[in-house]
Amino acid sequence: MPEFETHDCDVLVIGAGGAGLRAAIEAEAAGCRVTLVCKSLLGKAHTVMAEGGAAAAMANVDERDSWRVHFADTMRGGQYVNNWRMAELHAQEAPARIRELEAWGAVFDRTDDGRILQRNFGGHRYPRLAHVGDRTGLEIIRTLQDRVVHRKGIEVHMECTVLRLLKDGDRAAGAFGYDRERGRFRVWRARAVVLATGGIGKAFKITSNSWEYTGDGHALAYEAGAELMDMEFVQFHPTGMIWPPSVRGILVTEGVRGEGGVLTNRDGRRFMFDDVPENYRAQTADTPEEGWRYTQGDKSARRPPELLTRDHVARCIMREVKEGRGSPHGGVFLDIAWIKEKLPNASEHIKKKLPSMYHQFKQLADIDITTTPMEVGPTTHYVMGGVRVDGDSQMSTVPGLFAAGEVAAGLHGANRLGGNSLSDLLVFGRRAGEHAACFARENAVPSLDAGAVDAAARDAVAPFERAGGEAAYAVQHALQEMMQDLVGIVRREEEMTRALDGITALRERARLVSVVGNREYNPGWHTALDLANLLVVSEAVARAAIERKESRGGHFRDDYPAKDPQGATFNIVLRRGGDGAMQLERRPIPPMRDDLKAIIQELG
Ligand code: FAD
Repeated sequence: MPEFETHDCDVLVIGAGGAGLRAAIEAEAAGCRVTLVCKSLLGKAHTVMAEGGAAAAMANVDERDSWRVHFADTMRGGQYVNNWRMAELHAQEAPARIRELEAWGAVFDRTDDGRILQRNFGGHRYPRLAHVGDRTGLEIIRTLQDRVVHRKGIEVHMECTVLRLLKDGDRAAGAFGYDRERGRFRVWRARAVVLATGGIGKAFKITSNSWEYTGDGHALAYEAGAELMDMEFVQFHPTGMIWPPSVRGILVTEGVRGEGGVLTNRDGRRFMFDDVPENYRAQTADTPEEGWRYTQGDKSARRPPELLTRDHVARCIMREVKEGRGSPHGGVFLDIAWIKEKLPNASEHIKKKLPSMYHQFKQLADIDITTTPMEVGPTTHYVMGGVRVDGDSQMSTVPGLFAAGEVAAGLHGANRLGGNSLSDLLVFGRRAGEHAACFARENAVPSLDAGAVDAAARDAVAPFERAGGEAAYAVQHALQEMMQDLVGIVRREEEMTRALDGITALRERARLVSVVGNREYNPGWHTALDLANLLVVSEAVARAAIERKESRGGHFRDDYPAKDPQGATFNIVLRRGGDGAMQLERRPIPPMRDDLKAIIQELG
């Protein structure tokens, strides 16, 4: 019997980004004892890295905005495979969640008359992103964390990685994990569990995501019997840094384009004007002059094509590079310095609006963005797919297991609009906390399965007991390289089938990795334990991507470049079969309510 500490609570929240913190606050406010577990230090989550802002139709800058337009924009961006109920709730509730943050102490940028300022972002018809310069995530996390640390009912376990979800019969009963510092095991017993573990970016080689985004929550839920959905939809953000190689993939916020930054190729051409999709043409500027006026708040002007959806912009960049019109290091140019032709105080303006970008390029690439164009290219950024949940409650198909934020599927459909993640975390983090608290109140304390705990502990220490195997890093790198090359921005059946074979082979290698040293802060061991999750999510992405034989949103098939109207009628759902193999199903999307259909017809 392995040694472990046991902790009891009503609601266990796994992950302390925006979704986890917001869920914990809500569950505690409902009278529950909450335990919040996170893999890194409290505050170090993707949410803190978010730059551009949180989308909410507050209509502070353009009075034409409303939840109905936000709903229509989100559905159109997601190419109509979104969970429409989630898109409705999100658009309706986001403004209240932002105002609530303000009441809790978040200091957003202001309009001249003192309201929360909102900026333009791709795919949003009106300026909609509440922001704090380009450090919005930091302010959101600071505000939520301030509330969490002052609540007696919330206990925080930092630097603890959850390795397995525990069940009592069919229902969620808690989790098993270890503290990263000493390597000691912990068991958390809970009446309800909320997963808020973020994304899967580390399944790919070039990514804006940091080390902890290994798809843990996706894999934990899948192994516990929950369904995953939409895993083929991975977002490749068009603008990541590409030079020097050590910083490749680090995000360059869309806020640069929102503030007037333009994309040009080697010949200085604004290539985004060359390819405007039909369904966005009526709302896209015809000339650079009109595009500039839009970014400066002229309501009679239309969006520049640089602010089309991310999937489209990323593919246009890839095309320029592939056809030999790229920048010296294999990207294109993103130029905000050009605005000095328009604004007398351009340099100060850029530093004020984009302080992090200014410092990022100065420090990491020795480039002054107020005078010199940046070199950028696509980077793996976000996964639209995740745990399939009920739109209202966020409960998965496993009773008592909830998911919110990036780990949950549905809201964003085939493609997320920038800014819709931060508002997603707030809206659905709160809902997950509320409903998890409700479930906890209505259900007894579960029993723990000692056999399951034993098995999880045995599996966790197995890499120490195998001598002479290869290091986990080698397997991780091979997987990342393969996913980037074979299941990346442009996909083909034959390549993805090869990737599936590759995953099978890598799974064998992962079973044999060995770790040297002991359990005290041992990154080699941590990587070995993350591998199983990376393999599950990689297989899910590849299988779903093979099954969707069309191009839609973040999923682009070279062998099926067109959109198939049938493709808008189903989601791809994956689950673990009785034999342990991954099963896949096309699940019909429930018919949309008539009142929402009318909105799409009017505004979509
Ligand atoms: P995260 O904030 O990613 O938090 C996940 C938490 O789970 C962390 O605490 C982590 O330690 C924990 N965790 C993971 N695995 C385990 C485990 N096994 N055990 C225990 N804990 C675990 N979105 C916008 O809307 N607007 C933006 O401007 C924007 N800018 C972005 C900029 C960058 C550079 C990046 C990377 C993303 C950006 N996004 C933006 C996306 C957005 O930030 C993320 O989608 C969002 O923050 C995810 O929040 P979350 O709460 O779901 O997860």
